[in-house]
Amino acid sequence: MDEKQLLELALKLGFADAAVINTEELVFVPAFRSLCEENLCGKYGVNYACPPDCGTVEEMKKKVLHWRQALIMQTMWDIEDPLDSEQIKPAKTQHNQLTRQLIDQAGIPGLMIGASGCSLCSPCAITEGKPCRFPKLQYSCMSAYCIFVKEMTERCHMDYDCAPGITTFFSMYCFQERVS
Ligand code: SF4
Repeated sequence: MDEKQLLELALKLGFADAAVINTEELVFVPAFRSLCEENLCGKYGVNYACPPDCGTVEEMKKKVLHWRQALIMQTMWDIEDPLDSEQIKPAKTQHNQLTRQLIDQAGIPGLMIGASGCSLCSPCAITEGKPCRFPKLQYSCMSAYCIFVKEMTERCHMDYDCAPGITTFFSMYCFQERVS
């Protein structure tokens, strides 16, 4: 499946917008790691796909740059308050499920980056001292990779802040393996 077909598939599945970016154009900001440490999402230290267990910023960046391109997917939601976790959590779950659906239909190898940290199990097996239950399906979020999302949307000509009362989420699928 090529770039054009991936974009068509994303829109067909219901994403509000989609774009493809060269991974070398992404901006990584190591200082964002401190935002994860504030643990507003509640996943810091209790999820294999989140810091500190997911890896260092440098290791995460390397995982992304292993792939040449990334499909960026956006959904929009009628949510007034982006901090309203009762509405945000299920919406992010739906966004991540739609992302997985696209990946399954695309059928090409790659790396999923979610709109939130992995929520495939509740709680994550790390809290029970057990290995990850779905290591091939687990995904980290853009924050765990320290990706500067606003900058990314500008480079892709996508809307970061859509309108008052609308909350947007982004996920990514990195594809086209870089062969060294
Ligand atoms: S798949 Fe389950 S065990 Fe693995 S990181 Fe995700 S929530 Fe944790």
